[in-house]
Amino acid sequence: MKLNPQNIYDYVIIGGGFGGMCCAYILADEGYSVALVEKNIQYGGSLQIFSRDKFILDTGLHYIGGFDPGQNLNTIFHYLGIADKLKFHRMDENGYDIISFSDGRRFKHGMGYNNFIEQLIKYFPDEEKAIHSFCRKIQELCNHYPIYNLSDDLSENYLDVVVRGENAYEYIASLTENVELRNVLAGNNMLYAGVKEKTPLFVLALIFNSYICGSYKIVTGGAQLIRQFSQRLREKGVQKINRQKVISALFNDENKITAVKTDDGEIIQGRHFISTLHPSVTIDIFGKEKFYPAFVRRINSLENTTSTFIVQLTFKPYSFPYLNHNIYHYFNDDVWETINYTEENWPLGFYLSVPVPVKNKSFAESLTVMCYMRPEEVAPWSDTFNSTLHPNSRGEDYENFKKRKEETVIQKLETLYPGIRDAILHVYSSSPLTFRDYTNSVNGSIYGILKNSHSPLSTVINPRTKIPNLYLSGQNLIFHGVLGTSIGAIVTCFEFVNRKKLIEKIKSFSR
Ligand SMILES: Cc1cc2nc3c(=O)[nH]c(=O)nc-3n(C[C@H](O)[C@H](O)[C@H](O)COP(=O)(O)OP(=O)(O)OC[C@H]3O[C@@H](n4cnc5c(N)ncnc54)[C@H](O)[C@@H]3O)c2cc1C
Repeated sequence: MKLNPQNIYDYVIIGGGFGGMCCAYILADEGYSVALVEKNIQYGGSLQIFSRDKFILDTGLHYIGGFDPGQNLNTIFHYLGIADKLKFHRMDENGYDIISFSDGRRFKHGMGYNNFIEQLIKYFPDEEKAIHSFCRKIQELCNHYPIYNLSDDLSENYLDVVVRGENAYEYIASLTENVELRNVLAGNNMLYAGVKEKTPLFVLALIFNSYICGSYKIVTGGAQLIRQFSQRLREKGVQKINRQKVISALFNDENKITAVKTDDGEIIQGRHFISTLHPSVTIDIFGKEKFYPAFVRRINSLENTTSTFIVQLTFKPYSFPYLNHNIYHYFNDDVWETINYTEENWPLGFYLSVPVPVKNKSFAESLTVMCYMRPEEVAPWSDTFNSTLHPNSRGEDYENFKKRKEETVIQKLETLYPGIRDAILHVYSSSPLTFRDYTNSVNGSIYGILKNSHSPLSTVINPRTKIPNLYLSGQNLIFHGVLGTSIGAIVTCFEFVNRKKLIEKIKSFSR
């Protein structure tokens, strides 16, 4: 542990999710003393795992993109020293994602741009031009964002792409009259909780591109990722302070933060502070009077991505096949409308993912089904709080609500896999309240701030704040996901570390 004599850390990082862990690693690797403060017992935030009945189940990690050799996340994982410590499983080359509809139509997304194009042209032979244009456009947008490509080229500015404000739905619609192809190109939009009128094309591009460039599952998922990353942080001397929820801060006469205070009364002193929490949660902690009123108004008026209801099934041995691809399944014809379900038709679609089995490669041990769920649905229980550290019952009504929703999901699953019910061993579920309580995300939002193509700059978050030694990072900074938060951490650390040198260092780990 690298503590300086007065027990003042160079950097205090608030939030031990993947974003906070990445910031901590980068700064500790540069030789600074770092404290990483986490409210839960477990680190990992959205990537936390839980174990039930001898099964380890993931919450927020199903697959990662950009992981083929030489790609951005592959290089970052090598730099973080976790790539060689984890086992990765490459997904189906000719269909890592399958977009499927209830009438039996299925479309594969292939890995690698040539393959992606080839797979789609099989279904849409008359749409070659539109498919090529789509791929060119995605790559062009990604090329305009230097950090995404681990380049320090200052001549390109990410904001140029953001300011253009192209809308994802409108762009795809402009490419083709073929409604089926439009749906297939946007069929993975649960990856970014897409909203037809709002989601910018650059969000689709940064995320879609990464999965085309190498989709992998991590064997034993978030559990291994967090364990190995935690070990690396220990080796680098990061002081991990868990079970401590940051609730307020102490300031000096220059309006600089000197320490943060936790709900346990602990005072953690630092020179610089990085909050990886949602900016509105950050404002509440540090006090709205410390920020520009316009900033507070803007942040508090931003919409967040919706929430989710996740059903996790465990299987009897050898009863359900392992799937080396994800399925985005729709009961409606417009994939963008899935988010606008009603109580009667919920869920209009779901995302299905099967973790890599540990015992027998051919048979699934568990399966995750993710459906959209608006936080209003769990409003009757919003006053309750439940986490591993503070376990509480939300009451019988809530449990019944969950059971009803689980049953609906299983019935919908049966339309895709008749007989799946007989294979099920146990059923578990998490609601928007679970995500809210475990990660402190606003209303259990899946991915944080919803980017908006019609007011693109309003959703851009700068790592600097009015408080001279408070910086922001995490999934709200640039984009979400393991890739998005690691890039966000790099961008935040440019405030403290020479940009060129850091990028060169990271790139030297490219394999
Ligand atoms: C259901 C779901 C599925 C997903 N699937 C994938 C996927 O397959 N692939 C992928 O790449 N990404 C996926 N993501 C997205 C990805 O998990 C997140 O974008 C990323 O993990 C966010 O990291 P973060 O550090 O920004 O925030 P978080 O993970 O939310 O971490 C914030 C941390 O701060 C802590 N905290 C909050 N308040 C306080 C406080 N006051 N004091 C101290 N600590 C505090 C929280 O407990 C938490 O640990 C998924 C997300 C969800 C929700």
